[in-house]
Amino acid sequence: MTAQAHTPRAYTPLYQWIDGQKLAGEGRDTSPVLNPFDGSVIGEMPHATVADLEAALDSSDRAFKLWRAVPAWERSAIILKAVALLRERSQALADALTLEVGKPQFEAHMEIGLTLDSMTWCAEEAKRIYGRTVESRSPHGRAIISREPVGPVAAFSPWNVPALLTGRKIAAALAAGCSMILKPSEETPGSCLLIAEAFADAGLPAGVLNVVIGDPDLISRTLIGSKIIRKVSFTGPTPVGKHLAVLAAQRVIPVTMELGGHAPVIVCDDADIAATLAGSVPNKYFNAGQSCIAPTRFYLQDAIYDQFVEQFTAAASTIVVGSGFDAATQMGPLANARRLEAMERHVNDAVARGAALTTGGHRIGNRGFLWQPTVLADVPEDALIMNDEPFGPVAVMARFSDIDEAIARANRLEFGLGGYAFTRSTARAAKLADSIEAGMVGINTFAMGMPEAPFGGVKQSGYGSENGTEGIDAYLVTKFANYG
Ligand code: NAD
Repeated sequence: MTAQAHTPRAYTPLYQWIDGQKLAGEGRDTSPVLNPFDGSVIGEMPHATVADLEAALDSSDRAFKLWRAVPAWERSAIILKAVALLRERSQALADALTLEVGKPQFEAHMEIGLTLDSMTWCAEEAKRIYGRTVESRSPHGRAIISREPVGPVAAFSPWNVPALLTGRKIAAALAAGCSMILKPSEETPGSCLLIAEAFADAGLPAGVLNVVIGDPDLISRTLIGSKIIRKVSFTGPTPVGKHLAVLAAQRVIPVTMELGGHAPVIVCDDADIAATLAGSVPNKYFNAGQSCIAPTRFYLQDAIYDQFVEQFTAAASTIVVGSGFDAATQMGPLANARRLEAMERHVNDAVARGAALTTGGHRIGNRGFLWQPTVLADVPEDALIMNDEPFGPVAVMARFSDIDEAIARANRLEFGLGGYAFTRSTARAAKLADSIEAGMVGINTFAMGMPEAPFGGVKQSGYGSENGTEGIDAYLVTKFANYG
């Protein structure tokens, strides 16, 4: 540990948050929450029972009827008050993120900054949910189109960026006038409960936000199967998203699905290589590569291939991996044992198929889930890692000659979340932006995920958007009222 190392406070207590009550113990099953840096148990998570879930549904139903009638300016003020409280409590939230995900403190604080920006955006947008009028067919009639909250929402957030992906779901739904039952990942319930606590302390009426934790299958089947729930929002793996979409389809309720990605990065021979590398390396290893928009498949044009691989490898090999509480740490551990197994599987498969391991490729130590920043060069298209999302700190390099060939390879997969291209030519930039099949394309940048712009995918990366006006729209339905 360095002199500036930060000593964390204890992990937050875990409970069901239902109708303004903290529920724990009382014979509920529990399961441990682990610190991914050393594998130690940091908390015991009580599992929601069927009775808990029914109580959450009743509470959400009652609270929706009250909350939808609260004026938009008051809804906005409560969200902004929660933002202010979370800003005051940001160190406690950062500690929870480092303890449960392993991310370095500087990344935890970045995530909290993004979360608060996103919540602020939603609070402001609450005041701008507009309908419209159209010409009536009657002389003194009125034909009014209004936007109404869809109803109680069942939301499911993941473990990789748990504060951001929880906070923006909650704030968008509340801004629209919906109530929400949120299930955070069973690996990262603490940060979500801290966010819920801030909303309660900001004056959010009981039941407008309920948090349930425990067995994901029991929770999702019970919530989505209930006639009280009118909308599903899920961020996580594509197979789980498909399963939840089927459950929602059986009730004919709308869903927003933000699923996996496998972002291509096309680097043309006319790109500013120094600037491209300066963006590529930190973005690849941010959050130990566990991001749905992480740059993954680097397609590099012939003339710059060797230089790019060499310089990327040199930069990756100097990244300091360690405890998120150590100020020197640039990359934390992987979040769970599944990711460690996936890295081993992907790297071994690629090497067996002829890829060159230019740095990393191995686990660090024998406790926790630390993995070396890794670069694989000359990776063939049939390697597992070129087809399955690695969701970890492995950069994949492949060579191309012709731009059309690179576009075809970038679009080959069923994923379409993020995509990136680097070139100095405006004509190439326009062609690449138009041709890459993705919900979000970065041209000469990796910047994505700002609150004012929609975030979402195409193909099996999902449908619907979070953020932007689209993110509020996701929680609204349209009503036409005709006054004859
Ligand atoms: P996994 O299959 O173990 O799923 C774990 C996550 O899905 C947990 O949050 C869990 O609560 C939820 N889940 C599982 N079954 C569920 C059910 N029946 N109902 C509701 N929720 C359920 O996957 P994993 O190992 O955690 O992650 C692997 C993949 O997940 C990655 O490769 C990546 O594609 C994807 N992922 C994507 C995002 C994203 O931001 N889009 C975030 C996290 C993970």
